[in-house]
Amino acid sequence: MTDMRGLLDDPHDLKLYVMKTGSVHMSGNIHFNKKSPRFKSMPKDERFNPVLAFLLEHPEKGWTLMDTGLDACFCESSLGNFGPLLGRVVKTKAEKGGDVVSQLATLGVSASDIPYVIMSHLHLDHASGLPKFGRGSAIYVDEAELSAARSPLGTAGGYIKGFLEGLEVRPLVYDGSFGPFRQACDFFSDGSVFVLRAAGHTRGNVAVLLNARKGPILLTFDAAHRKANVEEGIPPKGDYVAALASLKSIMSLLEELPETRVIYGHDPDQLPGLDLLPDFYT
Ligand SMILES: [Zn+2]
Repeated sequence: MTDMRGLLDDPHDLKLYVMKTGSVHMSGNIHFNKKSPRFKSMPKDERFNPVLAFLLEHPEKGWTLMDTGLDACFCESSLGNFGPLLGRVVKTKAEKGGDVVSQLATLGVSASDIPYVIMSHLHLDHASGLPKFGRGSAIYVDEAELSAARSPLGTAGGYIKGFLEGLEVRPLVYDGSFGPFRQACDFFSDGSVFVLRAAGHTRGNVAVLLNARKGPILLTFDAAHRKANVEEGIPPKGDYVAALASLKSIMSLLEELPETRVIYGHDPDQLPGLDLLPDFYT
């Protein structure tokens, strides 16, 4: 098992930019899993949830984009590139300039400047902007996630196959464990960025831990939509048993490394406190 504490004693000069690309809503308290014995007692919360994407600057490896958020086309039409079926079920709000490509441009970065894209999973709200990153970017996804997204039943699971068309997608290779996470990938093999397999919300969703100078940063992505998932011990929608196991791994990591700064997948309560691009975390 990776000695988390030992690794974090040797932090890296990473810069993390957080981008809000829009917001998304599906009815039915989907941030809490219905199979939880406590689901029915949780208050109804029908707010729109922020859709985030992250840009990481590594001193030697350059830019890595993590998730791609909502594409610019959501400013023109509320269905955006979700199509008439999923576009009606998954409601969105987007503002001009909020898409990833526009936000990168404010830093003087274009899509072709991004050598690495790590996808937390391929649900439509995370992959809507992916088609803009086909040229020159190596796109990394968990293998089980990729087959779920490409399966004939993918649409029912919240995937849009067209987002992957013509893209070269590479499987994440897990080469060890990281603390409570049994499968993890030291992405640049230098102890700076750890991709943690945290399946359950989908078949292959991942979280990411950044070994940053001011302390570790955990991006839960959809392994925990909100801080409330961790506080209540209720995983988000998906395979309940697997999602609960992943949530428990997050909870024990935070117990072991209480100084960790956590950014949740879609937390409307956390949003006002986030330092969004052009600010960044180090
Ligand atoms: Zn999501």
